[in-house]
Amino acid sequence: QGTALRQAQGAATNDELFDRARQAIPGGVNSPVRAFGSVGGTPRFLVSARGPYVTDAEGREYVDLVAGWGPAILGHADARVVEAVQDAASRGLSFGSSTPAETELAELVEQRVAPVEQLRLVSTGTEATMTAIRLARGFTGRDLLVKFAGHYHGHSDGLLAAAGSGLATFALPGSAGVPAEIAGLTLVIPYNDLDAVRAVFAEHGDRIAAVIVEAAAANMGVVPPLPGFNRDLVGIAHAHAALVISDEVLTGFRVSPAGWWGLEQGETAYTPDLMTFGKVIGGGMPVAALGGRAEIMQRLAPLGPVYQAGTLSGNPVAVAAGIATLRAADASVYTRLDEASVIVADAVSAALAAEGVAHAVQRAGNLFSFVFGEAVAGGARDYDEVQRQEAWRYPPFFHAMLDAGVSLPPSVFEAWFVTAAHDDAAIARIVEALPAAARAAAAATPP
Ligand code: PLP
Repeated sequence: QGTALRQAQGAATNDELFDRARQAIPGGVNSPVRAFGSVGGTPRFLVSARGPYVTDAEGREYVDLVAGWGPAILGHADARVVEAVQDAASRGLSFGSSTPAETELAELVEQRVAPVEQLRLVSTGTEATMTAIRLARGFTGRDLLVKFAGHYHGHSDGLLAAAGSGLATFALPGSAGVPAEIAGLTLVIPYNDLDAVRAVFAEHGDRIAAVIVEAAAANMGVVPPLPGFNRDLVGIAHAHAALVISDEVLTGFRVSPAGWWGLEQGETAYTPDLMTFGKVIGGGMPVAALGGRAEIMQRLAPLGPVYQAGTLSGNPVAVAAGIATLRAADASVYTRLDEASVIVADAVSAALAAEGVAHAVQRAGNLFSFVFGEAVAGGARDYDEVQRQEAWRYPPFFHAMLDAGVSLPPSVFEAWFVTAAHDDAAIARIVEALPAAARAAAAATPP
């Protein structure tokens, strides 16, 4: 009824908005996965968001399990964050100068995450990882970088490297426009495979500047590190005088107050040399950061020879959102995130099981996703295994949920995100939608 009313009033539909967007913007989107390429259909054009809900241009409300791709741990438009942003904005949008708030945000991070002795603010996760790699190269005087197949660290040239197979291979570019010479500086090895780590260091150890790793992988769907993997990875890299960059852009301040690093205390504890943050640290505004050992961080300009800069780095409005978010994220927020993630993941799993759909729940803290099919029913530990799933079961599942008013990540290779605002009412709406979606997944046929 709301939709009919809005259309009668001349408001555009999602289809009309997508047509228009495709004229003005390549593919109609400013980040590819938003185009629904892997699930088909028309993306929803969102106009507002509050708590656990988002609303599209047709006036339709959805329970949201994307959470802005991670930042919205408190729920959308949390009053404390919005107020902090409005207050900062009223005092000026951008100074291009130092502010007291930047130091406050850096201190908040350093108090929570012990390996971060100093922090540099940037605007996106891509910038954070790109700068961390430049810094690692500048610090070690070496060129090669090791990354893991299926790990995403943003879209800078050297990180868009496709996976080689088996033993370490020099990567081929994963995107047009990346010179082979640049991609060739990145070595790609399988995740959760310490033998592959040892092998790549045995062969190239004296040329490797750093290993970059998602603290827990969540960009091929969720694939948690095996117990002790991060610890042993640091041990091997350090034995070869290489650095470890632990990428917590997605996990930082989401899976615990101290991110994934905070969850691995005790026997599997590890100390990365550099860490990167994004998403939650900006509370939905463009803030990201790299931090780590002071000795390394002080090689950045203006103290050291490694250059980095940004007109909008430490932007006062964005930093205000980050500070307000971190301050509001108390223990009860993390308790609720954990609870909500378990309830939703278990409900999805039960609905799939009831329809006989073989699957596994992949969990890393309060992040989760699903892999479909007998081949992966025991869970997936790396990119090869993730790709063995029946990915074609996801699009009909996704669309059944969307039709019922639940917005999921538009790809099976993405994590699902809850917020602390996912209350019983929001979760009940998810649970109600599940049986039909599970039936759609069961009825799906391979392409
Ligand atoms: N690193 C990880 C682990 C990410 O998940 C992402 C984005 O999803 C990035 C880096 C890149 O961050 P941004 O999209 O802010 O450039």
